Amino acid sequence: MNLIGRTTRKRYYEDPYLAHCSAQVLRSNADYVELDSTVAYPEGGGQESDRGVIHLPDGRCIRFVEAKRMYGYAPRLEGFPDIQIDGVIWHMVHPDDRSVAAGIEEGVSVDIEIDIERRARLTLSHTASHLVYVGIGLFRPDAIPGILGCHIKPEGARFDFKVAERFTPEEVEAITIFANDLVCRNAPVRVESHEVHADARIWRCEAHQMPCGGTHLTSTGSIGLLKIRRKCLGTGKERLSCEFVDAALDLSPYQGRTPL
Ligand SMILES: [Zn+2]
Repeated sequence: MNLIGRTTRKRYYEDPYLAHCSAQVLRSNADYVELDSTVAYPEGGGQESDRGVIHLPDGRCIRFVEAKRMYGYAPRLEGFPDIQIDGVIWHMVHPDDRSVAAGIEEGVSVDIEIDIERRARLTLSHTASHLVYVGIGLFRPDAIPGILGCHIKPEGARFDFKVAERFTPEEVEAITIFANDLVCRNAPVRVESHEVHADARIWRCEAHQMPCGGTHLTSTGSIGLLKIRRKCLGTGKERLSCEFVDAALDLSPYQGRTPL
C-alpha cells in the first residue's frame, strides 16, 4: 500500500479491452476526479494517457484530457527497475468542465468510458515499439544503456539514445526487417503479472521479454509493415521513429464489452 492508504482499481489490467465501467467518486475538484476504479490507462512508460468521459447520474458529463498515476511507490522488485506500483489515478478535467467537476459530491456513482480509437492506436503503437526496441537490442546493444526516453503516441513511437556511434542505414534496415518478420508471423503477445504485485507486469513475444505496464495487442499482425526512420538530434544523440502505414485498427474487441 502507498502512503495515502488507497489505490485505484485498474480495470485496464483486468481486461485491456474494457472501454467503460461504473465507479464511485472518491475525490473531485476543478482539476481532477479520482474514482475507486477506472478503465483509463494513465501516462506511463512513454505511452500517452487515455482520454474519455465521466458520465454523472443526472446526465451531465465531465471530459478528461489525461489520466495521471499519483502516489505510487517503488517496490524494489528484481527485474523491474524504475517501476511505480499501486497509487491512485487522477482524471484531469477538461478546461470547459471544471465547474461541473468542482460540484461533484464524494460517493456519487458514475460511469467512465475511454476514447477507444485513441486507446487502440496507442496499444498498437506501444506493441510496435517493443518490436523495434528488441531489434535495437539485437543489432545495437550498445545503444540500450544510453536510452534517453521514449514517446509512444497514437500515430507513431520514437526512442532517443545517447550513443557514441550513429545508427547506420544498414543497422536501421536490419532492425526494420527483424520487427517486420515478427509482424508477418503474427507472433502472439502475452503479458504476465507479478504473483504478488499485479501492477508489475512482463511483456513477452516469442523468446523476447521485458518489464512493461503498458497496453498491448494480443498478437503482432495488425501492426502492418513498419517504417523506421533515423534522425540525428545533435552530437552523440540519435532518434529512431517508427510509423505504421499499413496498420489494421480493430475496434471490435472494445465494442459491446461489459465489465466482469
Ligand atoms: Zn509495453
